[in-house]
Amino acid sequence: MCADNIPTNSSRHLSNGAIAAELMALAQFLAASGANKFKVKAYRRAARTIRGLGESIDELVRNDVDLTQFPGIGGAISGAIQEIVRTGTLRQLATIRAQAAPELSEIAQHPGLDPRRVLRIYKKLGISSTAALKEKLLGGEIGAKLGARMEQHVRQGLQEEHEMLQYEAETIVAAIKAFLIQQCGIRKAEPVGDYRRRVEIIRELSFLVETDNLAGVLSQVARYGGKADILTATETTAVTQLSSGTVLRLTASPAKKWGIGLILSTGSEEHVRQLREYSPDWEKAVRSAESFVTEKSVYRHMGLSFIPPELREGRDEIALAAQNRLPTLVLPEDIRGELHAHSTSSDGANSIEEMVSAARERGYDYIGISDHSQTLKIAHGLSEQDLWNQIRFIDKLNNRLNGIRVLKSAEVDILVDGSLDYPDDLLKELDYTVCSIHSRFGLGKADQTNRILRAMDNRYFNILGHATGRLLLKRPGYEIDVERVVEHAQLNGCYFEINSSPDRLDLSASDARLAREAGVKVAITTDAHSTREFAYLTFGVDQARRAGFGKTSILNCFSWPELERILKR
Ligand SMILES: [Zn+2]
Ligand SMILES: [Zn+2]
Repeated sequence: MCADNIPTNSSRHLSNGAIAAELMALAQFLAASGANKFKVKAYRRAARTIRGLGESIDELVRNDVDLTQFPGIGGAISGAIQEIVRTGTLRQLATIRAQAAPELSEIAQHPGLDPRRVLRIYKKLGISSTAALKEKLLGGEIGAKLGARMEQHVRQGLQEEHEMLQYEAETIVAAIKAFLIQQCGIRKAEPVGDYRRRVEIIRELSFLVETDNLAGVLSQVARYGGKADILTATETTAVTQLSSGTVLRLTASPAKKWGIGLILSTGSEEHVRQLREYSPDWEKAVRSAESFVTEKSVYRHMGLSFIPPELREGRDEIALAAQNRLPTLVLPEDIRGELHAHSTSSDGANSIEEMVSAARERGYDYIGISDHSQTLKIAHGLSEQDLWNQIRFIDKLNNRLNGIRVLKSAEVDILVDGSLDYPDDLLKELDYTVCSIHSRFGLGKADQTNRILRAMDNRYFNILGHATGRLLLKRPGYEIDVERVVEHAQLNGCYFEINSSPDRLDLSASDARLAREAGVKVAITTDAHSTREFAYLTFGVDQARRAGFGKTSILNCFSWPELERILKR
């Protein structure tokens, strides 16, 4: 569709940001009233999708385009969006707003704040506005009276949301790329920057583009999804802001210098700085008439082997590339099985049989079912008897299955004293365990570390689940001394997981690197709570690649007989 033919109602054109704000406000009111959390989540997700789109939702609605093609937008939400575009608001929201207390209406404008928690803070501190909340935050009162975690929540919630995670970026990047090529007439557009290096939290979306008319492209962006203000612009680079607040950077490069353009725009800044330092030829090549279409040709020119984007963080990659000693990084197709997955026995959405058949469809040789343990009541943890029954059930299942093996496992809670949540005679019956912390995040660093070390002393401890418990952009992890934990794991034959859930990615790349350097293998797990979530694997693989892992150091790149030997303590 050509932009010039779109009929516009310029008197009342709603930006994507304004539409998203309505949905987000509704989500906030629903959350405050204790509504179904999946419903709240659905509105939030739809709002994020809309805010990141490179197309104008207002125009799409006016052209009767089916909105359910976008991720997270189902029939009901699509109807709500149409109502917002047609009437400027949602009747449901207007009604709630009219009846809500003024302080709640104000909280609803801050999508990062959890209304119920903030109302509790208001009560405790005797305040009733976000202005007062901010004051208390800066004065240190929230931290002192309500703890570090609450302080962190308020700090993040009062910040404007400009950051996103890889899985959120994925959709937006695809939409922007399509927009740049189809509607701006750009010949070639490639996502670069943090996104291409697979950094977990992305603060700016960056594209390398092949065009002779960067200014024209920018005016198109402003018209569709931009806030219309160009932050900076030179002949070859432009930075603008989308209605979501997301910063979009476009860098133009001629086709014959594409390889150089890719390296410069992919970064990291530190990697590029070290390249400049390493090879004076670099600058000459940039200015010469010589063609450098691929990155490989540029690195080769400098006497380096190709450096994968995930390794370009300015650590040891240039020295290794100079000696042709870069690791061969693990790939998604190297993964032979799943080691952390839940079923309906605890808090999963699919039965064991459904999880197994989905794993088989992915070509896996094995899948470990690791449901929650008894103490974790909110996740329907299995009692000892339940787990005994599950073990017998899986034995029977394996008898009639061909081509895939179901491993008997559990995600065993590490209790506050460092003991495991099942007795040894039960743990002994499992093929392996994933042991995790799900409680008492507020213990100090030393106690939390000792808790894990003590757990590792149990001979039935195999893999430490989500080692720091972080939820990206939501909560920091609990504090542990990762180096001590890695050392203890190395001494005792324990392992880590890289939890691929895009909100976790735990271990972080730098912690995972510590494990690799100590010779401790890791599993790349998805912690799937449904068959759909097996797809998270790629995010964990990216994370492992950033930590420099090859497949020989990844537990689930081994066959089960090999893995069984490795896990034996
Ligand atoms: Zn867990
Ligand atoms: Zn889990």
